[in-house]
Amino acid sequence: MILLKTKEEIELIRDAALLVGKTLAEVGRHIRPGVTTAYLDQIGEQFIRDNGGIPMCKGFEGFPSALCISVNDVVVHGIPGDLFIKEGDNVSVDIVIKLNGYVGDSAYTFAVGEVSPEMQRLMKVTREALYIGLDLCRPGNRVGDIGHAVQMHCEKNGYNVVRELCGHGVGFDMHESPNVPNYGVKGTGPLLKEGMVIAVEPMVCMGSKNVKFSKEDGWTCRTRDGKPAAHFEHTVAITANGPDILSSFDFIENK
Ligand code: MG
Repeated sequence: MILLKTKEEIELIRDAALLVGKTLAEVGRHIRPGVTTAYLDQIGEQFIRDNGGIPMCKGFEGFPSALCISVNDVVVHGIPGDLFIKEGDNVSVDIVIKLNGYVGDSAYTFAVGEVSPEMQRLMKVTREALYIGLDLCRPGNRVGDIGHAVQMHCEKNGYNVVRELCGHGVGFDMHESPNVPNYGVKGTGPLLKEGMVIAVEPMVCMGSKNVKFSKEDGWTCRTRDGKPAAHFEHTVAITANGPDILSSFDFIENK
């Protein structure tokens, strides 16, 4: 069932989503060659707790960490550990926070120093696909309209979207109905209504769309061909006035 949110509830979800944006920025300030992903996780978890939030990924179905940190060919769900960040890496950080009982979700792919022009382009196109999808988050559109637009933008730029994972409803919990795939057919899927809150999150591969999940940890999702991937995500409310993006990259980009 798709749970609709009141205006007051949307404001509370915004508070949680903005704390996600601030945490992404705080983690981003510490991303540099020589630090480990476990160190970044510790920075993020401390910041979340200092601000009264609960990191929702920690303990979710056994996930061990506060943040998902996915480097290079890891698409999503990377578990922070003793991996050292190095110049030229791309580091995707995905954070879900509960604050005052409401949940926000956002992700950002950071470039470490100088990344290749190919990687810069992948990040740019993935980010564009996110905002193209967000712009369709209006009453009367359907979930398939979002997926279709995201998929078309990525494919026309020579990239592929992951099929195994998708966006989702969010706000009362970290994963609610509906699923919001990054591919689809226009005019299909659940109808978007005022009061819905969803996470739109293109996961885009430079090479093939095929991914594999780690047999060791059950989480880490890598591209099968070893080529890099990028991931950007916002929490958005569907309102009578159109999309209201509740999370923000401003804390990262206007530092
Ligand atoms: Mg999400």
